[in-house]
Amino acid sequence: MAVYTEEEVAKHSKEGDLWCIIDGRVYDLSKFAGLHPGGENVLFAESVAGKDATNVFYGLHRAEVLQRPQYARLQIGTLQGAESVIKVPAPGDLSRVPYGEPTWLSSGFHSPYYTDRHRKFQTAVRTFFEEVVKPEAIKCEENGKRISQEVVDKMSEVNMIAMRLGPGKHLQGRTLLNGTVTPEEFDYFHELIINTELARFGGRGFVDGILAGAVIGLPPVMNFGSPELKARVIPEVLSGKKYLALAITEAFAGSDVSGLQTTAVRDGDFWVVTGTKKWITNGMFADYFTTGCKTETGFTVLLIERNDSLSTKAIKTSYSPTAGTAYVTFDKLRVPIGNTLGEVGNGMSVILSNFNHERWMLTCTALSAQRVVVEECLKWATQRMVFGKPLTSQAVIRGKLAAMISRVEAGQNWLENVTHQMNNMSYAEMSSKLAGPIGLMKSFVAKSGTEIANDATQIFGGRALTVTGMGKVVENYKRTSAFDQILAGSEDVMADLGVRQAMKKMPSNARL
Ligand SMILES: Cc1cc2nc3c(=O)[nH]c(=O)nc-3n(C[C@H](O)[C@H](O)[C@H](O)COP(=O)(O)OP(=O)(O)OC[C@H]3O[C@@H](n4cnc5c(N)ncnc54)[C@H](O)[C@@H]3O)c2cc1C
Repeated sequence: MAVYTEEEVAKHSKEGDLWCIIDGRVYDLSKFAGLHPGGENVLFAESVAGKDATNVFYGLHRAEVLQRPQYARLQIGTLQGAESVIKVPAPGDLSRVPYGEPTWLSSGFHSPYYTDRHRKFQTAVRTFFEEVVKPEAIKCEENGKRISQEVVDKMSEVNMIAMRLGPGKHLQGRTLLNGTVTPEEFDYFHELIINTELARFGGRGFVDGILAGAVIGLPPVMNFGSPELKARVIPEVLSGKKYLALAITEAFAGSDVSGLQTTAVRDGDFWVVTGTKKWITNGMFADYFTTGCKTETGFTVLLIERNDSLSTKAIKTSYSPTAGTAYVTFDKLRVPIGNTLGEVGNGMSVILSNFNHERWMLTCTALSAQRVVVEECLKWATQRMVFGKPLTSQAVIRGKLAAMISRVEAGQNWLENVTHQMNNMSYAEMSSKLAGPIGLMKSFVAKSGTEIANDATQIFGGRALTVTGMGKVVENYKRTSAFDQILAGSEDVMADLGVRQAMKKMPSNARL
C-alpha cells in the first residue's frame, strides 16, 4: 500500500478530491463524501479534510465501522512514520480495558476457583462464539428471526447445547468443544464461562433466542422423565434437531404458580390438556413444551409435543422477537401418560428444583451484559470530549463509573461463591441450601442492572437512546435490563424468597 506524508494528504481537501487520516491510515473520501450518512459538510470541516481526523472519527463512530468492506476499501495507503494504534480485538482476545474482564482473566490477578484448564476453555469458547455465533446474534437481534439451523448445528457439533445444561450424565461419552474439556472435569465454572460468553454481543433478545428454552425446560425431563422419554427426547434436543420450551406462566398465574388454570384431565392412557400459557421463551419454534398443569390431585408437569391441538402466537415484547416469545394455546390436546414428569400431583417440587439453575444462569448472563456496558462506558468516557476535555475529567462521571464497576464486581464475586457451592453440593443439597442465596443474588444483580443502565444512559447521553451507532449496546441494555428483573422470578419475589428462607433457619433462641 502507498505511503504518504502529512503534507501530501493536506493537498487533498476540496470537493472531488478529499483525503483524511484515521489512525495512521490514509483514506480517499472523494467519492464517498456525497454518501456520508451525516452529510458531506462534516467531511469538509477544517478538522477532517486533508487532516488527521482520528479523534473526530472516534468521537462519532465505533471502531468496527472501518472494518466494514465498504469503508475498508476507501483506504488508499498509510501515513509515513505512523502506526495504527487502535486495536479491534480479534476472536478470542481478552479486553484490555480495566474491569472489561472478571478478575480471574485479568493479567496479574489470582482466583481460588479457576484453573488453567478453565482459562483454556474460556479462550476456546470466546473464539467459537465470536466466529460462529456473534454474526448470527447481531443479525437476529436486528431482524427478529429465530437462530438459524446452521448455527444450531455448529453448536451441537461441539456439544455446546449439551454443555449449557451443566455438568452431569448427559455429557458422558461426548467430545466437548473438540476435547478442550472432558465430561468428567466439566463443572459449573465451565458452564458459567459459556453463559458469560454468549451474553457479550449486546443483544438481550438473542441471549434468550439461543435456546434458553431448552436450558430451563429440559432439566425436568432429564431429572423426572421416564427412561423411554429421556432416551428419545434428550438426544433430539441436545443435537439441536428439536426445540424445547418451559411453559409454566399463564395470564392468570406468574409469581404465584399455584394459581395455574391449564387443566389436564385423565382419559385412559392420555391426559387431555386445555388452557393457555403466556410469555413462553422459544415457544414460537419449540417442538416440546415442559408444561405445568392442574390435575385432580394437584399440580403436575407434562412434556407436551406440538401437534394440531397446540397453537402459538407471537407476543410483542420490548426485546427482539428472535427470543420467540409465545402465547400458547392447548385445545383438548391429548398427551400420553408416559409424558408425565415426576409424580402426579407433585409438580411443584419438579418445578421448584429447576428454578435454582435457571436463576443462576440468568445471573451469569445478566452480569456478563453489565460488564460489557461498563466497558463501553469506560471507552466512551475516555474518548468523548466535552468542554475541551474527555468526559472522564468530570468527577460526576467518574462517580458513576465507580458505582457501575462496584456493582458488577460485587455481583461477580457473589456469583463465583455460589458457583463454588454448586460444585461442592449434591443436587438435593443445592435445592435445600441455595434457593435463598440464589434468589437474593438474582434480585441484587437484576436491580444493579437497572442502576447500571441508568448510569450508562447518562454517560452516553443522546447516543444511549439511539438504536444504531456509538450507544447501540447501552440502548439495547437500557431497553431490556428489566427482563432480568422479571424473568425466572421477579426481583421483589426473589428478594422476599431469600429472606423467607433465612427466617426458616433463624435459631429460636437467638437474641440481641
Ligand atoms: C419476555 C418474557 C419471557 C418469559 N419466559 C417465560 C418462559 O419461558 N416460561 C415461563 O413459564 N414463564 C416465562 N415468563 C414469565 C415470567 O417468569 C413471569 O412474568 C414472572 O414470573 C412474573 O410473573 P407475572 O408477570 O405474572 O407477575 P405477577 O406475578 O402478576 O406479579 C406482578 C408484580 O408483583 C410483584 N409481586 C408478586 N407477588 C409478590 C409478592 N409475594 N411479594 C412482593 N411482590 C410481589 C412481582 O414482583 C411483580 O413485579 C416470561 C416473561 C417474560 C416477560
